[in-house]
Amino acid sequence: MSRTAQVAVFAGIRGPARTFSYSIPDGLELAPGHLVRVGFGPRAVAGVVVALDAPFEGTLRPIDALVHPLPLLRPHQLALAAWIAEQYRTGLADAVRAMLPPALAGRARVALPAAKGERREAVFASTPEGAAALAGGDGRLGARQLATLRALSLGARTGAELADAGGSAIAARALARRGLATEGARAVRRVPREFALTEDDSVRDAPATPGQAAALDAIIARLGRGDAFLLHGVTASGKTEVYLRASTEALRRGLGVIVLVPEIALTAQVVARFVARFGDRVALLHSALSAGERFDEWRRILDGVADVVVGSRSALFAPLEHPGLVIVDEEQEPSYKQESSPRYHAVDTALALGGLASGVVVLGSATPRVVTYHAATTGALRLLTLPERVSDLVMPPTTIVDLRLELRAGNRGTLSRALTVALRRTVSRGEQAILYLNRRGFATVVLCRDCGYIASCPACEIPFAYHVDGSLVCHRCGRRATPPTVCPQCGGTRIRHLGVGTQRVEDDVRAAVPGASLVRLDRDAVRAKGTHAALFEKMRSGRAQVIVGTQMVAKGFDLPGVSLVGVVNADTVLNLPDFTSAERTFELLVQVLGRSGRGAAGGQGIVQTYLPDHYAIRAAAAHDYVSFAKAELAGRERFGYPPFGRLVLLQTQAKRADTVTRRAEVLASTLRAEARTDAEVFGPAPAFAAKRAGAYRMQVILRGHDPLALLDRVPPSAEWTVDVDPVTLL
Ligand code: ADP
Ligand code: ZN
Repeated sequence: MSRTAQVAVFAGIRGPARTFSYSIPDGLELAPGHLVRVGFGPRAVAGVVVALDAPFEGTLRPIDALVHPLPLLRPHQLALAAWIAEQYRTGLADAVRAMLPPALAGRARVALPAAKGERREAVFASTPEGAAALAGGDGRLGARQLATLRALSLGARTGAELADAGGSAIAARALARRGLATEGARAVRRVPREFALTEDDSVRDAPATPGQAAALDAIIARLGRGDAFLLHGVTASGKTEVYLRASTEALRRGLGVIVLVPEIALTAQVVARFVARFGDRVALLHSALSAGERFDEWRRILDGVADVVVGSRSALFAPLEHPGLVIVDEEQEPSYKQESSPRYHAVDTALALGGLASGVVVLGSATPRVVTYHAATTGALRLLTLPERVSDLVMPPTTIVDLRLELRAGNRGTLSRALTVALRRTVSRGEQAILYLNRRGFATVVLCRDCGYIASCPACEIPFAYHVDGSLVCHRCGRRATPPTVCPQCGGTRIRHLGVGTQRVEDDVRAAVPGASLVRLDRDAVRAKGTHAALFEKMRSGRAQVIVGTQMVAKGFDLPGVSLVGVVNADTVLNLPDFTSAERTFELLVQVLGRSGRGAAGGQGIVQTYLPDHYAIRAAAAHDYVSFAKAELAGRERFGYPPFGRLVLLQTQAKRADTVTRRAEVLASTLRAEARTDAEVFGPAPAFAAKRAGAYRMQVILRGHDPLALLDRVPPSAEWTVDVDPVTLL
């Protein structure tokens, strides 16, 4: 009987990926992980062997050809793909495809190309004859050739390296013609300008702080065996330095390193430090690379040339032989969740990879998700803390301003009196200020400007979202209401759904400090490439005094001249009807307040809010992570949100509203009938963006200790997207 192989088949870049069985032609030696070419309908497409000799009945098409003699996916990668497929309810073929560079999965080549790079350069090596000639003193060799041969024997390879040692490429070619050396070529890789080796690496030899030393001891002791840590340290406490030193140790032991960063353009400094320390051993994998560049980097990892992989979430799938250390920086970032199939969360997947490959996983953050913190305080992760900044800078004292009082005092502007005074003082002293505006979520809640009352769903206790049609909608249960005209809490009539734009704040700032030089940084500005860097430079050089911006200013703006950070509206995200609203608010506030007081001038923070008593705002102003986490976890426990329950978000869409409503009602009621005690079923409700691209969208939410068990009993049809462990329910 002939042998069979199960193959994850990729029908083009956007086509479906599915697993099919094929027969193995006689004489073809196949192993799981091999890239093959197979017939698929009338076409030949690429696929990866995922298993051998699965039982099958009927006749099978044979595999056409092997694309590369070595398996491209290592055993731990195939195991990880299986874990993803099971955990996130996605096809195994989708998970396998995510592990290959798109250039490879997209077409059926018969041979795997080498890394192309930008250009090629000559490399040389000594032969045994060359070594003998060097040892025996070959009289026919000139001085330049002898120097070249000696340099080769010491490991010089390129023309530049030979020249440094007194030899030359020309002499090496002459040696090659006489069989004393060999000549080859290698691709020269382009390192993107922003990560070039400019980062000063003088801290490399500085003694570790006591906190760093303790963390390193704990991490290094587990290398080669596997473990998982949360490294919780305020910004500038030396986390990156811990990553770098642990990586050095992992490499010394022959283990590969994976470093995940959330958004590579905004974390260029971290990336540059890895490049500065590990040079050519670093491979960069991120979405800004072209398909060709991505393939080149992937190939360097596969070939063992690069063993430090730095990139966004898909860097987890790098083909390292022994991923011994996996670091996830800023583990709280929502971008670690992939929002298309396979919808994996990179943090959980990193932990799974550590388990499968005996790797040590280090999750780092100043403001970890409470889910992660909970795991670290209950033993699932080991907690390492860096409580202080490396230098003796303190966190800036922060004042909370109650916007309800401002309004009562007749101030209708975007800047409170306290913030105006602080801004004037800062500018007159020649110092700098950051004014931060929470853009997300504005204008979605209906709020009483007199008392701060927010219209909420009585059943779900989450804010109603205001819709363009003028109604209020609960995105949890689907309940609708009309906005009140009189506040049920204070009887006031100034009920608005309001948002503040950067433009309005900019105008108010110009009025408050006429003559001060001001720059604006929001998403629109950042889209123009390089603007982030240019504005940063303007602030750094002191040419600008005030920067007004959205989320962008919270990241990477390390400016010693900034002595004031003002948060214009702290509560817009807080009011979003989402289980992570408080967490996101806390994180953003801590992050942006941390931009103040990094220099000699010291610093202060001012937070404007309609909810001055909210625990997320109070804890952020006090820079108190632990009290925030306690309050937040208590709330999550009360409602059964993660980590006390799991969530699954089911979404579907259709051109017609009645089609999508009927479909959603059928699924929700079937789920309810089968739910038992595994999960509660919420909805159907309109999705937060209820209509998108001409289609109506509805959602059903499962929440409980085992929603996956319920999905096993009631698998949704292909018309539904299934998002297990979503990071947002919006
Ligand atoms: P984090 O990643 O927590 O923000 P970093 O590792 O970037 O912290 O460290 C903050 C600053 O302190 C950096 O400029 C870094 O070079 C410096 N630094 C880190 N560790 C040490 C050390 N042991 N001795 C001296 N300087 C250090
Ligand atoms: Zn509701």
